[in-house]
Amino acid sequence: MSKSKSNGKPVVGVDLGGTKILAAVVNKEGKLLSRAKKSTKADKDPDQVLDRICLVIREAVEEADLTINDIAAIGAGSPGPLDPETGIIIVAPNLGWKNVDLKGKLEGEFKLPTFIDNDVNVGTLGEHRLGAGKGVANLIGIFVGTGIGGGIIIDNKLYTGFNKTAGEVGHIILQPKDGPKCGCGNIGCMEALASRTAIDRMIREQLDNGKKSVITSLLKDKNARIKSGVLRDAMEHDDKVVSKALKKATYYLGVGVAGLINLLSPEMIILGGGVVEAMPDFFTSEVEKVAVKHSFPNASKNVRFVPARLGDDAGVLGAAVMAQMKM
Ligand SMILES: [Zn+2]
Repeated sequence: MSKSKSNGKPVVGVDLGGTKILAAVVNKEGKLLSRAKKSTKADKDPDQVLDRICLVIREAVEEADLTINDIAAIGAGSPGPLDPETGIIIVAPNLGWKNVDLKGKLEGEFKLPTFIDNDVNVGTLGEHRLGAGKGVANLIGIFVGTGIGGGIIIDNKLYTGFNKTAGEVGHIILQPKDGPKCGCGNIGCMEALASRTAIDRMIREQLDNGKKSVITSLLKDKNARIKSGVLRDAMEHDDKVVSKALKKATYYLGVGVAGLINLLSPEMIILGGGVVEAMPDFFTSEVEKVAVKHSFPNASKNVRFVPARLGDDAGVLGAAVMAQMKM
């Protein structure tokens, strides 16, 4: 479908996550006209989750005072790995999905052209078109949360590669010999060294070794996962344990980014995700320091390190942008 066929109609962007489903109606200028949200209920079977996605889409359209006939296309970002051509989610551990035909379901339900891609690729596209990376032709987005995901924009296009799997920056191996085990099965991936999960582990190791930290008083339940806001509060208390863990995490992020800078020569590194959003200045400046130190000076010259700007909207906006580009 050519761009003119949309007749300037808005599109729906969907952000499918393990805990919540977000949908938004977005006009051709990239403005959000409405938002809707539901819990995913990932413990239910895929058909029920698919029905919930359809429900959220209908709610977003209704919220914008429109009907499905007013919509040009649907774009959805989903955890993967997935096949953007067929729109089949190959495996999504957070959803308990295997070979789920997300594109087929949405097309069957709404009779609209539908486009699916990896959630982090879509988030990077959102930041590139409407957020921190607006007008920047070559950039890398890195999102730090439970895991670490990334997206690569080369010459204004999302780079997906031969097997459409590019952008897995979280699984760059930085400590192959004696590093921590990663969820992917490898040893010493960036994700195992610098994600919020890794930071959590590094803090608990220090506590187990008898180190004192305000974390113990900030956590209501000592076994609860350490949220980004708690990490920020601890940093504001000048906590040595948390600071040490975060310095380690930003060191590994920076070393990984140095390699990416040498490899791809981006103009901008966008850092996002919950942990970064809680401490944007700390993360961007620490990662920049390390990355600049470990990359070629002529490659890192004038490269900007910036926090993501779209927050929770990156997914829906990016998915909408993807639909607008592909239809
Ligand atoms: Zn890995």
